[in-house]
Amino acid sequence: MSQNFLKTLELTGFKSFAEKTTLEFKEKVVAIVGPNGSGKSNIIDALRWVLGEREAKQLRGTTLDNLIFAGTAKRAGMSLAKVTLTFDNSDKKLPLDYDELTLTRKIDKSGVSQYFWNESEMRFKDLAPILAKAKLGSRGLTMIGQSQSDLFVRSSPFERRMMIEEVLGLREYRLKKTQSENR
Ligand code: ATP
Repeated sequence: MSQNFLKTLELTGFKSFAEKTTLEFKEKVVAIVGPNGSGKSNIIDALRWVLGEREAKQLRGTTLDNLIFAGTAKRAGMSLAKVTLTFDNSDKKLPLDYDELTLTRKIDKSGVSQYFWNESEMRFKDLAPILAKAKLGSRGLTMIGQSQSDLFVRSSPFERRMMIEEVLGLREYRLKKTQSENR
């Protein structure tokens, strides 16, 4: 069987995941199951967040400083949250010359967040086109959360257009157009 594009998701200090937790996707995963409140949706939030989500609404209304493990009766809160994705890039789906790539996003208590490719820091502005090329985004149809199975039909015509453009790989060109217009 071919290797999954997404190999692992690692969460440290992110929402309810205080301890470093690594999820390995050795085979295709179709569902995450568990009791209410066990953290299933926090995993989806982590994926959206590491892929660049900046709006609290998209992370279930959580303010951005609430992304850091706040502590429990038994355990003190943390000062940093970190999420890392590891990709098998042997087919160069991500346009970078590495067979394996890690993407990390960190946030500290001051609300400052940083992105890293293979541990070297990079600006979101430079990351966005790379993700767009691999048709990865924090919105749209890349991830469908709980009670979102009708997301496509409920969306506005503009949002629907964005989703179709992402699937077709056109977001890359829209980003380039916006960047040129801004310049
Ligand atoms: P449900 O099926 O009920 O929606 P779920 O499995 O999707 O549940 P989540 O919503 O992912 O669960 O997780 C909720 C849990 O995460 C709650 O117990 C909440 O207290 C905890 N949580 C969220 N943010 C933080 C934080 N910053 N620090 C510590 N715990 C947090």
